[in-house]
Amino acid sequence: MPIRPAFHAAAASLLLIVAACGGADPRGPSDPGNGPSAPTGPTGPSGTEPVGPLSVGVPYADPPGYIEYIPGDAPLVLLAPHGGTLSPGTLADRTCSGCVTTADLNTQELARAIADAFVRRTGRRPHLVINRLHRRKLDANRDVLEATGGTVALESSWRWWHAAVDSSRSRIAGSGGRGLLIDLHGHAHAVPRIEVGYLLSDAELRQTDAQLGAANAMVRTSVARLSTDTRSVSDRGVALLRGPQSLGTLLAGAGYPAVPSATDPAPKVGEDYFNGGYNTQRHGSLNGGALDAVQFEHNLAGVRDTDANRTRYADALAALLVPWLERHYGWRP
Ligand SMILES: [Zn+2]
Repeated sequence: MPIRPAFHAAAASLLLIVAACGGADPRGPSDPGNGPSAPTGPTGPSGTEPVGPLSVGVPYADPPGYIEYIPGDAPLVLLAPHGGTLSPGTLADRTCSGCVTTADLNTQELARAIADAFVRRTGRRPHLVINRLHRRKLDANRDVLEATGGTVALESSWRWWHAAVDSSRSRIAGSGGRGLLIDLHGHAHAVPRIEVGYLLSDAELRQTDAQLGAANAMVRTSVARLSTDTRSVSDRGVALLRGPQSLGTLLAGAGYPAVPSATDPAPKVGEDYFNGGYNTQRHGSLNGGALDAVQFEHNLAGVRDTDANRTRYADALAALLVPWLERHYGWRP
């Protein structure tokens, strides 16, 4: 049965301004883009959606091989929209005004490392969706026009990307489940910490918990649904963002400083901070649904710079996510 992309009109109509991210990409514009051949797999007649039945752990791709989707069997979805390296000369570079074209170095490798670490720990696999194209060709964290830079031939790949996420959501929701989507990125900001984005701005985060609560700010976040109904009652509301069991606090406790967290509740005035993007808006629980979403913007050194550091971070992240998924969704491997 085809799994079709669900167009979220409400999400698409959001006018929320969110920050773009981009890390230095030493590979530069001469990237030949002749990476390993793409996996292929079931694709619907329009080429815009993966069709079932799909097998857990098997890589599928859209017809041109630009988007890769590995279905999982855990309530965790990992996206790497800016970690691609393919740069075919047949596709125009994105030259749209204001478009960011720098890639997030090693974030494709980071996503794969996190998935592998999760499998090692639990025997269960996260869903993984990867944009294999370099960001100068396709930005898989923007609306379709900015994502493709106007290259019509890439619109089906863009739709396939979101259909793959929708497929992941459907599989997680199929048994009445709930899950977490993490959109993985890399930043080159001055403060070396993981910026956890829930769609609240740095200025909003500088408010106190009481002020945020009084302003009903959690309804504007990508974890809106979970903030009201998590099984862990003490984590409801703003505590979900920077309480003692929040993702940022758990990351910091594992040796990876993060904002917001209990010890670093908000970026200071003048500090750069990415608060989320198109994927967190569209696929999180801002408008309900089975997935809550968060954007992780990773600093480079010690996190995603070397294979050893990526593996170490991936193991630490998997170790904290497993109890987090049980705490909030009641999931056990
Ligand atoms: Zn990015």
